[in-house]
Amino acid sequence: MSRIYNFCAGPAMLPAAVMQKAQQELLDWNGLGVSVMEISHRSKEFIALAEQAEVNLRQLMNIPNHYHVLFMHGGGRSQFSNVVNNFLGEHGRALYLVSGQWSKSAVEEAQKLAGEAQIDVLNIVTKLDGLNQVTLPDLHSIKKDYRYVHYCSNETVDGIEIFDELDSPWPIVADLSSTIMSREIDVSRYGLIYAGAQKNIGPSGLSIVIVRDDMLKLASLPQSSVMDYRIAAENGSMFNTPPTFAWYLAAEVFRWLKAQGGVEAMAKINQQKAQLLYACIDDNSFYCNGVAKQNRSQMNVTFQLADDSLDSTFLAEAERAGLVALKGHRIVGGMRASLYNAMPIEGVQALVDFMNAFAAKHKAN
Ligand SMILES: *Cc1c(COP(=O)(O)O)cnc(C)c1O
Repeated sequence: MSRIYNFCAGPAMLPAAVMQKAQQELLDWNGLGVSVMEISHRSKEFIALAEQAEVNLRQLMNIPNHYHVLFMHGGGRSQFSNVVNNFLGEHGRALYLVSGQWSKSAVEEAQKLAGEAQIDVLNIVTKLDGLNQVTLPDLHSIKKDYRYVHYCSNETVDGIEIFDELDSPWPIVADLSSTIMSREIDVSRYGLIYAGAQKNIGPSGLSIVIVRDDMLKLASLPQSSVMDYRIAAENGSMFNTPPTFAWYLAAEVFRWLKAQGGVEAMAKINQQKAQLLYACIDDNSFYCNGVAKQNRSQMNVTFQLADDSLDSTFLAEAERAGLVALKGHRIVGGMRASLYNAMPIEGVQALVDFMNAFAAKHKAN
């Protein structure tokens, strides 16, 4: 099989070493003679796997002891509703910061469940010289009582990332689906962090939730037991049968990350990868990116061709060169290269070489 580089935004590529290990032990895990997906989640072997996964995740992200780590069903979007149901109660209010498509979707779900009166919305993206940029608001000047403020630190669709730390008088709830473990963050600044697994952690369907224990005391709305953070925390994420195979793969990815030197080491490489690609975009008038430098996403690099009638030719030639899934999200168009942890720098170099050659060829015509 020739080497293919997969730039899909999600489900995204996983480390080849992890996939190979999973393949090798697919039929016989841990010497049990059966697959990890065929055993009870309550067996001592699976419990050991689950515990080790949590230990490794805590180490990788430096998660303080007063935070619970939950492995839940439902990917990223399920947390849009879980957050509302678990924290807002009948009268609580929340503030939502909007920086792109995903934070907008979170607002729509929150308003659907809690009603518009309980959800305040603040757009934090403005255009300056044609470029999208984020300005974090001074939340301390807002004299309101919110249960939490919700934001998304990396907008996967729009290619906008917020690197500045949000400062808030209320607990911060953050959607880190596409940026978790791509760089270091200070978990202790957050009330709750969630992430769908399929960008930087493992297969889709699994959702990682990191929640400070005092958040679990907030009044909740009646809700499904499977989506209740308290029940998940009390039952070690095993109130019902969890997505065990996804949990196993996530555990293998955590192990792989540790072997790479952890989040700090990944962050250095991720920075290099993004710089390499943005430099190519900036050096070629043939390409452009519409995000202000300080908010350019390290994980999802969006770009346009100067002549969009060449889009389909670009995608077809890229695919022939083994560079796949570069089409931008249908809402924003153009191109998008997702550079999650599993994407090696060689893949980005191959993309840059291709883009330079493509630009040279089509400029001359
Ligand atoms: C992918 C993504 C989601 C949605 O994840 P699903 O698992 O498809 O529900 C939510 N937020 C962000 C930032 C994402 O990148």
